[in-house]
Amino acid sequence: MSFKATINYSPNFSIKKRSKKSIKFLIFHYTGIGSDKKTIQRLTDIQSEVASHYLIKDSGKIVIFVPDLYVAWHAGVSAWKKFNFLNKNSIGIEISNPGHQLDYKKFSLKQINSLIKLSKFLIKKYKINKKNILGHSDIAPLRKKDPGEKFPWEYLAKKNIGYWHNLNKNKLIKVRNKKCNKILKNKFFTYLYKIGYSKNYKNQNEKLLIKAFQRRFRPQLISGIIDQECLLISKNLT
Ligand SMILES: [Zn+2]
Repeated sequence: MSFKATINYSPNFSIKKRSKKSIKFLIFHYTGIGSDKKTIQRLTDIQSEVASHYLIKDSGKIVIFVPDLYVAWHAGVSAWKKFNFLNKNSIGIEISNPGHQLDYKKFSLKQINSLIKLSKFLIKKYKINKKNILGHSDIAPLRKKDPGEKFPWEYLAKKNIGYWHNLNKNKLIKVRNKKCNKILKNKFFTYLYKIGYSKNYKNQNEKLLIKAFQRRFRPQLISGIIDQECLLISKNLT
């Protein structure tokens, strides 16, 4: 299995080479920039100090900025389970989309098909656990919203990229917006930590942490409020 790509190297990576074994995560991003041209300018500009390993353009075409065995600067301050600063343990994939600040739109089928090909290749090559396929907002929930609620996590899980709950949708929708008491809310957070979300974020901004979970696993409603649907989903995922 393979994929087609063009190479456009970026200076925004760490010089020290890493081992194949240290690659444990795939991190998905949206670019948050309106055009591919501007995105490529930014991700190859030494001043910006940001780069992902890969970009998937609007057309579905793939660009390589940094080879896998070098640490690209895409995640920033981040945490997941016992990992901090996930750049050193991850491969970053940017997918073109103007994002929430501009004109957040559905990802195209061409983009998603390319993402599936690329992800399958990387998952196999680096033996990446399906629970280690994450969005930027999962690991930096206070700063980031990408790839956001329009990203097709459920569809990707069906293709063995990442994972999803196995609950009945019609049953879930009935408890959407149903309130949770304090005890249930605390349970929700214990499930969240088991999934991998960092404990550090709760005290700083509980609402943004809840929203990150919702963008990932309950994309129909991003309320920042724990309801019974969120509780059931979080429990099912642990
Ligand atoms: Zn990002």
